[in-house]
Amino acid sequence: MNGNCIGCTDSRMITDEAIERMIKRIECSDSFNLVDDDTYHHRLASCMRCQEYEGRECRVCGCIMVIMAKLFNTRCLHQHGSKWDEPVKKWN
Ligand code: SF4
Repeated sequence: MNGNCIGCTDSRMITDEAIERMIKRIECSDSFNLVDDDTYHHRLASCMRCQEYEGRECRVCGCIMVIMAKLFNTRCLHQHGSKWDEPVKKWN
């Protein structure tokens, strides 16, 4: 893991601290629809068992999953179908 987000340019470094700040900003904002905690943890557990998960990112979509799994309108785009068992429950 070299700290680069594969969904962004190679020159952009995403630190753990920056990810924590993004998560807090998302959780405190009214602009995002979030899933409930059970759905979030279930999604992350599915990612961690997935062959496309590397470091903290999904190689299919290039997203940092500890952030993306919180968002209600995101989907797993695995080539053999979603690895996230829905239903999704909203948190707010
Ligand atoms: S393909 Fe789906 S389950 Fe696998 S890492 Fe990406 S989002 Fe997670």
